[in-house]
Amino acid sequence: MTEHHPRKRFGQNFLHDPSVIHRILNAIAVQPNQHLVEIGPGQGALTDGLSALADRLDAIEIDRDLIGPLTRRFGSDNDLDLDPSAEAAIASAGQGSGFRIHNVDALTFDLCSLQSPPSESKLRLVGNLPYNISTPLLFRFLEQADCIEDMHLMLQKEVVDRIVAAPGTRVYGRLSVMVQSYCSAERLFTVAPGAFRPAPKVSSAVVRLRPHRPLPYPIVDPIWHAQIVAAAFGQRRKTLRNSLSNLMTADQMAAVGTDPGTRAERLSIADFASLANASTACIG
Ligand code: SAM
Repeated sequence: MTEHHPRKRFGQNFLHDPSVIHRILNAIAVQPNQHLVEIGPGQGALTDGLSALADRLDAIEIDRDLIGPLTRRFGSDNDLDLDPSAEAAIASAGQGSGFRIHNVDALTFDLCSLQSPPSESKLRLVGNLPYNISTPLLFRFLEQADCIEDMHLMLQKEVVDRIVAAPGTRVYGRLSVMVQSYCSAERLFTVAPGAFRPAPKVSSAVVRLRPHRPLPYPIVDPIWHAQIVAAAFGQRRKTLRNSLSNLMTADQMAAVGTDPGTRAERLSIADFASLANASTACIG
């Protein structure tokens, strides 16, 4: 196999520490009949264990140069535009392994389209994510939470700190509110840079997200709610009266029990849902 040179633009830091791979697979605890989706299989560090355990596994990889090696190693049940040696490997491995690879961008790919039939059990998402686009990827997954059972994601440690942060803490912000509005979030363990090749400059952590069903604090208009949260934290040193002045009045804030003189970092997940619902209702 020709050597693959890790590409910075695709955030390629490949896991090579077997104990970390083992811990991640243990945390996921794949059961029979589950449908897993791996984001960014890379050179297959996690794919190896996942494909052995899962009845169905879809892998989403943007780097075309990795598709041939992945297919030669694991086969693929779907049609790919591949070089002849990879085609031959698929033919000899035979179809029906339950593994499919998709050479697409996870930022735009419709994950819910993988559920077939749509009544099938929800998807379990797994990924050692490219850190340069981890926040937009997380937002994309939240949009598709309806067809996701849970997610086990490796992220930069600081991003996990922000995801699980409680109100009133330094790192509580837009990401904390957006993720916790839609999911329960549990930090599992941290991973040192040496577990990857090349080693990143930062530490990593694995987080488990489980979409809430139903939402504990229902949100009437998710787009409006996202706008309120973004505006409130866009100017986090300002009071809500000022940071939200273009979106709602101080009276609307007071009507749902929020002091307009307070700052975004003091508001809970429930407070943000109430603020958004109150002002949505008024506009409508
Ligand atoms: N899972 C592998 C591992 O643990 O060694 C690779 C992890 S590496 C941090 C991130 C992977 O995501 C790379 O394989 C990269 O090519 C892929 N990737 C980057 N951007 C992507 C995107 N927008 N859509 C799908 N895959 C992407």
